[in-house]
Amino acid sequence: MRIAEIHVYRHELPVLDGPYKLALAEVRSLSTTLVKLVADTGHVGWGETCPVGPTYAESHAAGAVAALSEMAPGLRGAEVLPIPLHRRMDGLLNGHNYAKAAVDIAAHDLLGRHFGVSVSDLLGGAVTDRVPSYYSTVVGPPDETARLAAEKRAEGYPRLQVKVGGRPVEEDIETVRKVWEVIRGSGMRLAVDGNRSLTTRDALRLSRECPDIPFIMEQPCNTIEDLQKIRPQVGHGIYMDENSTSLNTAITAAGTGLVDGFGMKVTRIGGLHPMRAFRDVCAARNLPHTCDDSWGGDIIAAACTHIGATVAPELLEGVWLAAPYIEGHYDPENGIRAEGGHIKRPQGAGLGVEPDESLFGTPVASF
Ligand SMILES: [Mg+2]
Repeated sequence: MRIAEIHVYRHELPVLDGPYKLALAEVRSLSTTLVKLVADTGHVGWGETCPVGPTYAESHAAGAVAALSEMAPGLRGAEVLPIPLHRRMDGLLNGHNYAKAAVDIAAHDLLGRHFGVSVSDLLGGAVTDRVPSYYSTVVGPPDETARLAAEKRAEGYPRLQVKVGGRPVEEDIETVRKVWEVIRGSGMRLAVDGNRSLTTRDALRLSRECPDIPFIMEQPCNTIEDLQKIRPQVGHGIYMDENSTSLNTAITAAGTGLVDGFGMKVTRIGGLHPMRAFRDVCAARNLPHTCDDSWGGDIIAAACTHIGATVAPELLEGVWLAAPYIEGHYDPENGIRAEGGHIKRPQGAGLGVEPDESLFGTPVASF
């Protein structure tokens, strides 16, 4: 089975009750990029990639379209199998994992539909149909964040991620303390995510002033060198998110004991094929991790849920969804949503999602 046609679409996702505020960015609407692959058998597969604005990571929406347009002519006629496809993409463009991920996800969807199996089957097999999610707060006032924490605990979320940074560290410490007061004893796990924004000074202070609160610190500082510096000085576990830009950097971080786990994005690492290898490296080192993406609709959410369903339950930190911040679904019936803090694994072949492609308008590029 070979790729016969490639269509690229852009679609706007306004942030519900926005803006979504991170330490170093504030976003009001996200532009997602969708890829439709049509095989010579007539089967169709969908992929998606949606950077959270231009400053969260080294990726941006216009870059996704440009990278896909650079590769697409050379992908026509390529075999729809992950290994030859990734080799072909790497031979056409260096880097740009986030754009390659959209093709990778579409290829998995297509393969699943062709063979009549789900994407989680292609990735080794689901171990659950009820995948844990987690809720992420924005950087907000301490009392409001604590109120949200109580609400999400009551909804059944097994984990909460509190965003910090971009303000005096005293306010971050107060927020974490107030959140802990309302979730202590509930079993809800806590991550404190600095999104690269904290100085090592403030990261150390946050840890030292909350020695009694068992949170993990997610990507507190900007660089790998910053993480190396604080690592021997903190009592809290450290997870890497933004710095794990490839399988290579993740293997080094896991193999050198720099981190205790990862926040991993399917598009940052290049799609489901490298994500599968990442999952297995983490299993070999007994390291917990998430299976998320930074933003996007039902296609990316389904991809994250399928790989999340294949992770050993004790190592899965959850699958984060942008769905609570997005109005509506691409697939009104099978759209991906968290209920009781968990996501139902989509059934059916491929990703198990049938997008209403009329939502996406005409393609911005077709090959
Ligand atoms: Mg993070």
